[in-house]
Amino acid sequence: MAEERLQKVLAQAGFGSRRACEELIRAGRVAVDGRIVTELGTKVDPETAEIRVDQQPIRRQPLRYVMLHKPTGYLSTEDVRAEYPSWKELVQTPERLFVVGRLDHDSEGLLLLTNDGELAQRLMHPRHEHPKTYLVEVVGIPDARKIRRLQHGIMLDDGPTAPARAELLSELPQEYRRLQSRRVTAAGEDAARSRPTRWLRITLYEGRKRQLRRMVALLGHPALRVIRIGLGPLTLGDLRPGKWRDLTPGEVRALRDAAGGQETGQSSRQDGRERKTKQLLPGMIAIDGPAASGKSTIGRRLAQKYGYLYLDTGVMYRAVAAVALARGIAISDEAAVTALARQIEIQVLAPTVADGRDVTVLVDGADLSWEIRKPEVDRVVSPVSAYEGVRQALVPQQRRIAGQGPIVMVGRDIGTAVLPDADLKIYLDATLHERAMRRYRERLDRGEQADFDQVLADLRRRDEIDSGRKHSPLMPAADAIMIDSTRLTADEVMKLVQGLIERWRRP
Ligand code: C5P
Repeated sequence: MAEERLQKVLAQAGFGSRRACEELIRAGRVAVDGRIVTELGTKVDPETAEIRVDQQPIRRQPLRYVMLHKPTGYLSTEDVRAEYPSWKELVQTPERLFVVGRLDHDSEGLLLLTNDGELAQRLMHPRHEHPKTYLVEVVGIPDARKIRRLQHGIMLDDGPTAPARAELLSELPQEYRRLQSRRVTAAGEDAARSRPTRWLRITLYEGRKRQLRRMVALLGHPALRVIRIGLGPLTLGDLRPGKWRDLTPGEVRALRDAAGGQETGQSSRQDGRERKTKQLLPGMIAIDGPAASGKSTIGRRLAQKYGYLYLDTGVMYRAVAAVALARGIAISDEAAVTALARQIEIQVLAPTVADGRDVTVLVDGADLSWEIRKPEVDRVVSPVSAYEGVRQALVPQQRRIAGQGPIVMVGRDIGTAVLPDADLKIYLDATLHERAMRRYRERLDRGEQADFDQVLADLRRRDEIDSGRKHSPLMPAADAIMIDSTRLTADEVMKLVQGLIERWRRP
């Protein structure tokens, strides 16, 4: 077997995170083939080396991944002097498990336990911001303005919070309803008696001490209950309080993907640094412009870098056009196309398959992610999107998505019609020739047939319809910042836009 770093082998044998294992080595507690090793870079063959910690031979343990529904009153840390019992009272396994990411003693919900030190280390590293989703019962009823403040950032005494997702729930989601009636803490009961309470669903992309409680308290709505229901790709589901289960192989895979995918990229390292600067970011960014001006490339990269939701609204119009074609509906039949737009359910998701797609687009559950990119859809999407009824069906959906959290939304009418109050509006443009060249190269890169003149003619036609239509024509908003990308690379445009974001000040 190949040689591996000693700390990695120890971590895999259940001696804690890699950092903890490095400490063991430094402290002279680890021996390899009878010799104490204190050097951190040492490599060993785990199959043949005889490794001992405190004179005891290490045994490779099977890797174990456990989800616990931690009730309140239990600690996620181990402190023998503490007044509360630890999670260890609830989970007994032959393997030595440890906690990945803490959960306060007065908070409940999903706690991840494992003996996979490698994975734990990657998941816990501060440069990775794995989303954590909570149901939070608060005293009083936060209004829409306060929800937006949760989403966009609140100034805490240790700096502003990063963009988050937050929504006021009319009731608890079905699978968590049975948690509703559990007793609240004594202090909470007092507060709750005199005022109504409400549930919020909040997703954080950073984890500071008691951050969630501090955020809602600052808005005047102290938390009575905090239940973690999501951690990276994991969801609590119907696991009962105090119970635990092993993760499914699919969940373990998803967790590895989440940890591994983030560690490899150079850019993710920069992400962490980005967030550490703790500046306030615009909550809603609108990017408009003609086809192939670079909107979706820039939009996606921004969303990734700063942790925004990302919505390319063009795919929704494309979905209507693709389904109309597939069902043989005449594109000129405004009533039929409009009825179709009202009737179908379009979901725009992060890629669910790693096949080079930008997004996954489901229509009534069917995956049309590639269908909507076909040239025949390109040709009919502009007339489809010019119909007032089609826009009336899609724009409210786009606004609803914007209500879910800080967002970068890309399209033709985002700054003018969909989100006229966007915090930052960008209008990206380039000459027709340059844009046609980009589209043409894209097609060739995908291994498709393409004719440059045809691509150019199609784009010109789409531009004319998009700019000349009666309802929400393509045009820069009065307060949009124009960027001509004709002579710029995507990296150069990114730099300009980053500059705008970083200089942005809350009005
Ligand atoms: O951006 P993309 O080229 O995918 O958009 C496809 C078409 O959808 C555009 O040419 C335009 O006709 C329409 N569209 C729109 N309003 C938006 C986004 C796209 O009318 N906000």
